[in-house]
Amino acid sequence: MAAFDAVFVGSGINALAGAALLSRSGWSVCVLEREDVLGGCIRTSTDLTAPGFTHEVLASWHPLFTGSPAYAELKDELERRGLEYLNTELPTGTAFPDGSSAFLTTSLEENMAELDRHAPGDGDRWKEMFESFMRNADLSFGVLGTELWSTAGLSLGRQAYRRFGRRGLLAFAGEVLVSCRDWLGETFESQAAHGLLAPWVLHTGLGPDQATSGFMTQVIACALQLGGMPVPKGGGVVLVDALAGIVRDAGGEVRTGAEVERILVSGGRATAVRLAGGETVQAGRAVVASVTPTQLYGSLLGDGEVPADVSTAAARYRYGRGEMQIHFALSELPDWDGDERLGKTAIVHVTPGLDGVSRAVNEAERGLLPAEATIVCGQPLTIDPSRAPEGSSILWIQLQELPAGRLKGDAAGELDVGDGTWTDGLCEAYADRVTERLGRHVRNLERATISRVVLSPADIAAMNVNLVGGDIYGGSCALDQNLLFRPLPQAPGHRTAVDGLWHIGASTHPGPGLGAGSGYLVAKELTKPALARRLLTRVPFVGR
Ligand SMILES: Cc1cc2nc3c(=O)[nH]c(=O)nc-3n(C[C@H](O)[C@H](O)[C@H](O)COP(=O)(O)OP(=O)(O)OC[C@H]3O[C@@H](n4cnc5c(N)ncnc54)[C@H](O)[C@@H]3O)c2cc1C
Repeated sequence: MAAFDAVFVGSGINALAGAALLSRSGWSVCVLEREDVLGGCIRTSTDLTAPGFTHEVLASWHPLFTGSPAYAELKDELERRGLEYLNTELPTGTAFPDGSSAFLTTSLEENMAELDRHAPGDGDRWKEMFESFMRNADLSFGVLGTELWSTAGLSLGRQAYRRFGRRGLLAFAGEVLVSCRDWLGETFESQAAHGLLAPWVLHTGLGPDQATSGFMTQVIACALQLGGMPVPKGGGVVLVDALAGIVRDAGGEVRTGAEVERILVSGGRATAVRLAGGETVQAGRAVVASVTPTQLYGSLLGDGEVPADVSTAAARYRYGRGEMQIHFALSELPDWDGDERLGKTAIVHVTPGLDGVSRAVNEAERGLLPAEATIVCGQPLTIDPSRAPEGSSILWIQLQELPAGRLKGDAAGELDVGDGTWTDGLCEAYADRVTERLGRHVRNLERATISRVVLSPADIAAMNVNLVGGDIYGGSCALDQNLLFRPLPQAPGHRTAVDGLWHIGASTHPGPGLGAGSGYLVAKELTKPALARRLLTRVPFVGR
């Protein structure tokens, strides 16, 4: 029986970063991945469309990783292993149906000028918003980077109290809860500014009318100006290989095709995992599971190993909207209609604006295929030309407003959704609608297409068991399942009711994205001096 200090279930960004950090602290680590490739949502492929084209099949953009404490700590070693981040000064823009557009750059002055172009005064409003956000950025980013159910979480609360006082703290909390629609309406005059920022709320798993979506939009807007849109040269696989290399070179194991089917508990403590096929891998100090609560409490642990209220809550854990990916290999660079900056922008959202995003989210949440989905059009070549042959290009398209579960109909009344499952025919027909709309903006889209590959929510779910129903964020990010409540109010944070078993991944705080936050927090907790850990950091909570 193989034996390690820590065994990680899954090899997503959180597990790999956590495993690398523990390996550097002298722990012996084993990472077990059920798929044939490492990296979870980071999947770089050179055989998806046509020879010579490199695609990020799933996640593509790394601002959360390059802004993370995990990266700060591992940067030198990752660079020694070949990781190089490339960036852009034009991270995002929106193309509207009338041919107009709006842009966000990495320059405060340019952003002020751009917003003033649409409504005089919005430039100053942007500056005011940015400066006011930055005054409390330590708290805002702190909420997303701290183990909230710990003394660190309490001291963040105390810090906020000292800064704002009782009423001020209440007002700050109110600002965190505001919806994207209300925040945009109160802050900017122009519909263009609303349409530029509102689509970003989709990237946080929310819709523009949900609680906290205004705060999340501000976090992203400021982060884009500060950090641009970095991507690893050559694709995310370079990051995955570098992280796995750190673990292996420290004597650890990183295995694919290794499905964990059971976490073994002895005397209330997680001591090992059992793989499909019967092999057992022993964990002397920790089992760290990067899975959904559904899997953790529904099948990896046995009956009675956690309190009944935890299992019951886990069975009710909700998944969010489904997502579709469309990948294009193009024989030419995209020829955008309108502003020449569109061809240089990393991510262009194609949408009628705030109401368009809101309408499409609402249709998806009612089980309908949206009539006019927000097209997230990623252009990796604006940053990394190595991903396609000279003169040609690729597009990375996301459609984040699709129903969770069975389809009930088509909001446009055009497509027959049959029994509500994603057939190849339905998938291609829906992609045709999106392609036709995108073609109104990218004039050479049809002519230049060498290959188009469409992945339905069902295809995405089949690639990674954590993406239930094609929810790319590992569970709904609605307030009752987010922040203090993620993954479950009965088992929040990362410690579980089983000693030595830790829960990480997108389903846990600080949620989805490539920030490696949960892997980092758990690695830091595990490597704290034992006495300090026992005396200082343990805050009792429900479920223990
Ligand atoms: C299509 C798509 C596009 C995205 N785009 C971006 C983006 O551009 N930027 C960004 O920041 N975020 C993006 N995201 C979100 C982000 O990629 C994810 O939130 C994040 O990668 C999740 O990481 P994770 O650590 O939770 O693990 P995951 O990446 O979900 O990986 C978990 C791994 O665990 C394995 N596993 C699960 N159960 C077991 C088991 N029992 N035994 C063994 N292995 C198991 C799975 O096979 C999987 O490989 C995107 C996600 C998707 C799907």
